[in-house]
Amino acid sequence: MDNVKLAEMLFSDVKNAPEYYEKMYPPRSLGPSAEVTRIAPSPTGFLHIGNINTALANMRIASQTGGVFYLRIEDTDQKREVENASFDLPYNFSKFGIVFDEGYCSDGSNKGNYGPYKQSDRREMYRAYAKWMVEQGKAYPCFCTSQELEGMRAEQEKRKALIGYWGRYAKWRDAPMDKITEKLNKGMPWVLRLKSLGSVERRIKTYDVIRGERDVPENQNDVVLIKSDGLPPYSFAHAIDDHLMRTTLVLRADEWLPSMAEHLQIFEALGFVPPKYAHISPLLKIEGEIKRKLSKRKDPEARADFFLEQGYPMEGVHDYLLNIINSDYEDWRAKNPKTDTNEFKIDLSKTSAGGAMFDMVKLSDVCKNTVASFTASQVYEKALEWAKNYNLEFAEILKTDKAYATAVFNIDREKERPHKDIACWADISRLFSYMFNALHDYNAIVFPAQYSKGDIRAVLERYPAIYHADDDQQTWFGRIKDLAFELGFAREVKEFKQNPSGYKGHCGDISTIIRVALTGSTQTPDLYQIIKLLGKEEMRKRFDKVLSLRA
Ligand code: GLU
Repeated sequence: MDNVKLAEMLFSDVKNAPEYYEKMYPPRSLGPSAEVTRIAPSPTGFLHIGNINTALANMRIASQTGGVFYLRIEDTDQKREVENASFDLPYNFSKFGIVFDEGYCSDGSNKGNYGPYKQSDRREMYRAYAKWMVEQGKAYPCFCTSQELEGMRAEQEKRKALIGYWGRYAKWRDAPMDKITEKLNKGMPWVLRLKSLGSVERRIKTYDVIRGERDVPENQNDVVLIKSDGLPPYSFAHAIDDHLMRTTLVLRADEWLPSMAEHLQIFEALGFVPPKYAHISPLLKIEGEIKRKLSKRKDPEARADFFLEQGYPMEGVHDYLLNIINSDYEDWRAKNPKTDTNEFKIDLSKTSAGGAMFDMVKLSDVCKNTVASFTASQVYEKALEWAKNYNLEFAEILKTDKAYATAVFNIDREKERPHKDIACWADISRLFSYMFNALHDYNAIVFPAQYSKGDIRAVLERYPAIYHADDDQQTWFGRIKDLAFELGFAREVKEFKQNPSGYKGHCGDISTIIRVALTGSTQTPDLYQIIKLLGKEEMRKRFDKVLSLRA
């Protein structure tokens, strides 16, 4: 009876009993193997690439099982919250190809029947269950001040006792009703604590889909269920939300692994069946000999926005992250280069528990393959879309002559073995700057030291006269060979190799001089196509300028 009275005193604002919410959010009618998954970020204003990785795994598992994937905003720690960050989250995820079946939306509305999906809008539910916990004698108010808690901790340290609010340190656990009433009447702040029945002397078995069975000590602390601001901390909100939203699989970061015993205990106290759990390891990076977590402070690539700013194609980013989630994805992708990625089924039991290396070189290679699979028009459209947000000057250049830009992107592209040089859209203006006069930089032109000034001059002065725009590739190269011979270079590489001292070099050196004079680089896609697109006049102009700068 006392418990019921106490519950009413503590939660006089609560109108509904738990049954009300149980009815309002009934079990979902989905197939037997359907997984209901979620991503539950806190609106801190920072999205880590690890969040995208976890979201992708959750999204794919829901879709491959015919389940539901939703977005929940976890904003009960209002100290960490950044203003308006909640509104940005759905949109920011969507830019990474992460879309939700249900959840909180950018305009603050909720999509789906299991909402609201933002924790601060779920206050009444948490409090309804908290009230019930008090009625059942499973929770009690604690009026300890922060000084008292610090004192308790200092004493525990001194006695080498386990740190926490437990056993004889749990000052308010068995406090008489009149002491509680007195504090409440004075309006003293309180938190609600779980009356833990656990003991670290006993162990429980937990199961994690990635890590398998684990044996861990029970939680013996009387953890906080409702904070003094009236909202729950993570663990109580997690139990109530994942129960009422009918989540079947909690796939989350492994920072939560140590509190799993506490979470299971709260589910049990509430009479809920817990979901399946899978704890995913953080993305790692090698620094010297040491493997460490990808750090928001040290690594630009930890910030999800980095991939948008650089314009990595999302298909490639997904391909790379799927490799991290299931390492056999890479083999599957190699065998099925054109197949829709959704055909691959994630198997969490194959996910590494040890943490995966996040390797930008590998990610770039994967993205180069992705970009190589696009047509020139797709490259144009995607690069323009990116440039409109991140490189306005380049967007203008692309818009000025769509046909020309598309033809540039088609150099060495729509063929069996396309050139794989573009990993992200920011690469284009760097790699192809020489194809656009507005970006071309004469200062970047440096000839390899092996070529004499005289030979460079001779090639640049004589080549335009023998260039014919309508030559086929073989005839075109034949003329370069002729010029090589006239200047004392071998017509064929083979001839040069047989008699290196008889020549200054070979036909390839003539192409290199032309290539460097036009592009500033010794390595470019097909020179024949480059000259064809730039045109004879532009070539002559560039050669004259190079000669005048070097005179
Ligand atoms: N808000 C928690 C976080 O951002 C969510 C963890 C979970 O997925 O349950 O880490």
